[in-house]
Amino acid sequence: KSMGLNEIRKAFLDFYESKDHYVTSSYSLVPQGDKSLLLVNAGMQPLKKYFMGTEMPPKPRMATCQKCIRTGDIENVGVTARHATFFEMLGNFSFGDYFKEGSIRFGWEFITEVLELPVDKLWPSVYFEDDEAFTIWRDVIGIPEEKITRLGKEDNFWEIGTGPCGPCSEIYFDRGPEYGCGDPDCKPGCECERFLEFWNHVFTQYDKDDQGNYNLLENPNIDTGMGLERIACIMQDVDTIFEVDTIKSIRDAVISMCNVVYGENRKQDISIRIITDHVKAITFMVGDGIMPNNEGRGYVLRRLLRRAARHAKMLGLTGNVLTELVDSVMAAYGESYPNLLARKDYIKKIISVEEERFQTTIDQGLAILTAYIEEMESNQEETKVLSGEKAFRLYDTYGFPLELTLEILEEHQMTVDEESFKAQMTMQKERARSARGSGDELGWAQDALGQLPKDMASEFVGYDQTEVESKI
Ligand code: ATP
Ligand code: MG
Ligand code: MG
Ligand code: MG
Repeated sequence: KSMGLNEIRKAFLDFYESKDHYVTSSYSLVPQGDKSLLLVNAGMQPLKKYFMGTEMPPKPRMATCQKCIRTGDIENVGVTARHATFFEMLGNFSFGDYFKEGSIRFGWEFITEVLELPVDKLWPSVYFEDDEAFTIWRDVIGIPEEKITRLGKEDNFWEIGTGPCGPCSEIYFDRGPEYGCGDPDCKPGCECERFLEFWNHVFTQYDKDDQGNYNLLENPNIDTGMGLERIACIMQDVDTIFEVDTIKSIRDAVISMCNVVYGENRKQDISIRIITDHVKAITFMVGDGIMPNNEGRGYVLRRLLRRAARHAKMLGLTGNVLTELVDSVMAAYGESYPNLLARKDYIKKIISVEEERFQTTIDQGLAILTAYIEEMESNQEETKVLSGEKAFRLYDTYGFPLELTLEILEEHQMTVDEESFKAQMTMQKERARSARGSGDELGWAQDALGQLPKDMASEFVGYDQTEVESKI
């Protein structure tokens, strides 16, 4: 059964609504009332208050499709079949209502009856000590024992610091030996791309205390997360998430801009996929009111945008490539995200200003960095480390995020003296602070609202103000 990404999202939410879940549209990418996190990276994050019991949920069961950003996966983007920086996470949640059996039964019904995935291709995993989950898979669902993999803490136990935590159970799809590593014992949990993890069911049954004790919760919770792009990749029987209908339409827009044939040159293909992913990420981030900045989430936005701009450059593209590509993101996602579509002109404006700003310095910066690289190539030292001063100059004068400089250097087995870079950064901040006479970070305060002011014109004045701060 082939279904479009937008269709799968709707089928999921409709299914859980029919099972008495309260369904709501995605929360902002900007965490609300949670200073510990820059960007929402899982469906459960905006619902933490319900898990912690500090607020009552609208219903004991909920389901959402949540926009997520995971910059931790940035190096995998375009390289693996399954990682994006921006993705949507489908999730069902139970706040002290149903538990393991309920969650697994609902999930199984959805994937085998609504999506009609072939049962023989589905492989669950459980936490190695979780006999309860193992028994449910074997006796309630009827999966043969040898197809249920027991995995360790890294894969199948979820916890962040103290508080609610617990084991999880994942569902993998067997894409066939042609995707595999060749090991006859290859199973879920293997590094290769044969078994694609697409759904994680977390059973928050413990409350971890300061002493590291796991105390059983009286009312355990359910928190699940299924990557929409991954399930779409499976449903559409394509090799990577970049061939999923909505994403492919953006990828094709990138290809049509440049003079290359996709699939002929691995390095160029990776650049095309990176641009595809990052333009989607920055469109949604700006749509949620984040501004390019040198701090916090604004810096994440800037870093993604400039990384994409550099890859566009590597493909020989000129002009406001990313701004133009916003149209293809809108075409694929605008109907499902009407607020995004409504902010289209605003988003393009913000991205174009940032894109132009980087374009005026990228060539000079790249030329200088190339000269540094050549200089280091000719020196005799074993390890080639760019000084913090030089990396900081690229950052401060030419707008190169540190990570971008690092990435380019790594292509030449070189690195940066990050300690001294940080020292330079601190010094500059202190200079700016004493010049300003206040520690206020204007850009931060602005995007922390997580929403766009009603009046776009006044927002734009705000951008000029942040420009004073960032000095690029
Ligand atoms: P992986 O092992 O593939 O990196 P994960 O175990 O880190 O995934 P979880 O934290 O369990 O992922 O997140 C729940 C689900 O969200 C995953 O099963 C997957 O479907 C999806 N997901 C996670 N990270 C990404 C990503 N970078 N891009 C797209 N989908 C993702
Ligand atoms: Mg991961
Ligand atoms: Mg995993
Ligand atoms: Mg997982």
